[in-house]
Amino acid sequence: MRIDDVRRLDLGTFVRPAEETGTGLPRVDVVYGYVVRTPGGVLLLDTGLGKADDETEAWYRPRRVSVDEALGTVGLATADVGLVVNCHLHFDHIGGNPRFAGRPLFCQRTELETARAGDYTVPELVDFAGASYDVLDGEAEIVAGVHVIPTPGHVAGHQSVVVVCDDGSVVLAGQAHDTASQWSADVLAARAGELGHRPPLPEPSPWLARILELDPRRVVFAHDAAVWVP
Ligand SMILES: [Zn+2]
Repeated sequence: MRIDDVRRLDLGTFVRPAEETGTGLPRVDVVYGYVVRTPGGVLLLDTGLGKADDETEAWYRPRRVSVDEALGTVGLATADVGLVVNCHLHFDHIGGNPRFAGRPLFCQRTELETARAGDYTVPELVDFAGASYDVLDGEAEIVAGVHVIPTPGHVAGHQSVVVVCDDGSVVLAGQAHDTASQWSADVLAARAGELGHRPPLPEPSPWLARILELDPRRVVFAHDAAVWVP
């Protein structure tokens, strides 16, 4: 695998209302998935915006791109996908999951339990006919060179994927941070000591050290077109 083999899929947009942006203004947010051909098959991270209840639809006004259409832009079909990872199970990350019945869906146990407890996501997108979960408790190398690493924060069961390529590692961060800028600030928090700064200093995310051990050359996000590079 090479870094450039990780391809981004445009899965649509939605409008985040002013109440959630902190700026007093609405904001258009993008939804990205990622796909990479691994030695264990084609891996897909996230499957797009699901059809939610009327209230959620009216709140976020989503414009969906189907996972079939998105995969088509990189010359793939749903039948080509061997394994699916969801960074978490909110409705904007699992919309196309039922297209992958019978194929392993990797998620953290705590995330699946939260989703099944209700009031969290679209239940029909979690327990559909043929749903086949590969439940993880923490970190796992699901295919040689493909590491799923818990990155709690946005939700307790959030996870990211690190793909170790011949020319460096790519982090499919999902929503570990919403933006590349926030990731950048987190990395600087982790390095503040070695850079010679004295307290008081910001605390880095507890999971960041593990990801930095894998020496990422590129970090990509679910809701940001910007890419972090060291
Ligand atoms: Zn999201």
